[in-house]
Amino acid sequence: MASHEEILADKAIFAYLHRMIGDEGIELIRRFPTDKEYSDEELAEVTKINLNSVRNTLYTLYEHRLAKYRRIKNNETGWLTYLWELELDNMYDSVSKDLEIILEKLRKRYKYESENAFYSCPNCGNTITFSDAMDSQFVCQECENKMVHFDNDLLVNALQKRIARIEENLGHV
Ligand SMILES: [Zn+2]
Repeated sequence: MASHEEILADKAIFAYLHRMIGDEGIELIRRFPTDKEYSDEELAEVTKINLNSVRNTLYTLYEHRLAKYRRIKNNETGWLTYLWELELDNMYDSVSKDLEIILEKLRKRYKYESENAFYSCPNCGNTITFSDAMDSQFVCQECENKMVHFDNDLLVNALQKRIARIEENLGHV
């Protein structure tokens, strides 16, 4: 099991968590003790993070299966205490699912960009495929300027690099 710091050191994971729970949530994870389970009040005390914020973060993490709790009933008072523990290792599943979706979109875009030739209007920037340009006799439908071949090599290369990087992260290679 990776430590919380190790998990947060991964940029993709940090970004994913940060979107989910914000600065204070990240702080809670950093300061979350791992020796035993803690109640939300104890966590607020140990981490010096405001109780409401601790609770919000815990519930959000719980919804994403990244935290779990155990309910303890005090036999004298009948009060319930929730003891929390983080389960950040489940993160890899959630992040992978997100990355797979992004990867699919990038691959479609890459296919589209690399299989088509493009024409662009030097005047207004309108960019269309070769077959659409043929249909309109290479005249821009926005401003009636003559359209010229548009070199999309840079974009295709950038897409290729991004795809390779994500595949590497997902362990596809
Ligand atoms: Zn134009």
